[in-house]
Amino acid sequence: MTARSTTAALPVPAAGSADAVHALLAAGSIANISLVSTEHARCVSYDLDTTLLPQAVDSPGIDKKTARLLDALAAILVSRAQHEVIAIGAQVQHSNNLSDQSGKLQLVLAANAALPQTIQAYLEEVWKCMQLLAEHRQQLRLPEAKDQCARMAELIYRHNFPKFLRRVGKREAAALRFHEAMQNHISREDVLQYDSTAAVIAMLTSYSELIDLFSAHQVGGKNEVSVDVVSDPNFLPIMDGLWLAFRLLRSLGEHSFHSWGLRLPDHSTVELWRFFNKVTLIHGSIAELESVARSTRLYRLFQKKLVVEIVDYPRKRVTLPTSKDAWATLIDTTLNSAQPLKPIEPQVIQSTAAALSTRFSDKSVLCGIHCECKILQRFTTTAYKIKPINYIGVSKLSCTGCAAVFNSYNELQNSRDHRFYTRGAHGKWYFPWFLPEVGGVEQIDFTNRVYSKLAGQYAQYLKTVALSDSSALSEGSQEASGTAKDWMRLRAKALQNLDKIKA
Ligand SMILES: [Zn+2]
Repeated sequence: MTARSTTAALPVPAAGSADAVHALLAAGSIANISLVSTEHARCVSYDLDTTLLPQAVDSPGIDKKTARLLDALAAILVSRAQHEVIAIGAQVQHSNNLSDQSGKLQLVLAANAALPQTIQAYLEEVWKCMQLLAEHRQQLRLPEAKDQCARMAELIYRHNFPKFLRRVGKREAAALRFHEAMQNHISREDVLQYDSTAAVIAMLTSYSELIDLFSAHQVGGKNEVSVDVVSDPNFLPIMDGLWLAFRLLRSLGEHSFHSWGLRLPDHSTVELWRFFNKVTLIHGSIAELESVARSTRLYRLFQKKLVVEIVDYPRKRVTLPTSKDAWATLIDTTLNSAQPLKPIEPQVIQSTAAALSTRFSDKSVLCGIHCECKILQRFTTTAYKIKPINYIGVSKLSCTGCAAVFNSYNELQNSRDHRFYTRGAHGKWYFPWFLPEVGGVEQIDFTNRVYSKLAGQYAQYLKTVALSDSSALSEGSQEASGTAKDWMRLRAKALQNLDKIKA
């Protein structure tokens, strides 16, 4: 046996290896680590919500308008009710003839799971609508232009309907209850005097109208609504009203909504804010697409020939540590390379390792590359004559693994011109997850860097587990809420149970 194969046969992946990266993400995924590292906060603005709203993307070297276009396109490509994440990248090829505006725009799509067969035709159709809007951008008030906008909105809502329906229904009872409480609590004078009160009431009223419209188009059970509701003449006006109220409320600042949480303490404005953010997401994206098509700077994009390409890479098997001891060794190695300020107590390591070996009793897991990393892999391993646009639109904020990939890749670039950006990260750890291959840098340097970022964050997390354990001990009481360790065990159990149901 050669020295090389001996190393490969060890049950614990070596620090800095791709398998160590995979194992760390598996470990983080059951701990629900939500430490958002400051490095993604630096280049992008985001809220902690995992779904995106079109809002300012702010980083040197990113063209904001293009970034918003790509994020909006990613959002409107989603159609499944759940678990669908889509990323989109772009590459522009100008024509050699300067007076000729033709040339080619290539849009590259990737998803976490298989994309529907019709996605390409759908995107081309949306693009055609945008082309017409761009062509008539100086005649906004003509009925044709309005018809064109409505046609595009209807097309998008039809595609997105399963997801939209799920979003609208998610907190229906809470939203209607809040509406009723607001109605009882405020007076006409309040509405007249305070912008935020007016915006909140308008938003809730539009939402109630939407629910009524859904009831009118109900087919079968309570949550079954015909997709034809989007062609109802009242649908788009209601959504316009809802989006406008949410947008104005947002411009006043989120706190103006949350101040209602103090006055009506039986209602969670935090959850409702996220809820309305998601309900209006598609409408905001449509508004963004309309605005780009009419932009004096970007409308020429729509004179180019559109080419849609879908990229995918096969899922691969990841071998996780095979025993509790192997997990403990992996954690030890992680801590050694991350060097937390205080040593972590052995009990914490042992109980974490035990939870991990229970959760991942299947040692081998099929893992796919997340969609934004698929596009990064494609863009950095293909020889393009003209570099793709350095921003990748995604329908959701990135997970911790993907954020570590983009940050590591960008740090290894000497020139800013070769970096790639996304909207940002939500700070959660996801597994199954597979490390992409990247071009333009040594894969080994890249893997090492991703590993050390994740190791640092994981060590940080273990430190908080250790702290919460010791404080629970010193108080000498069994708190009803449980320690972080209890929660981790519980989560491991619950996840295992879910996996069994799905299998
Ligand atoms: Zn990810």
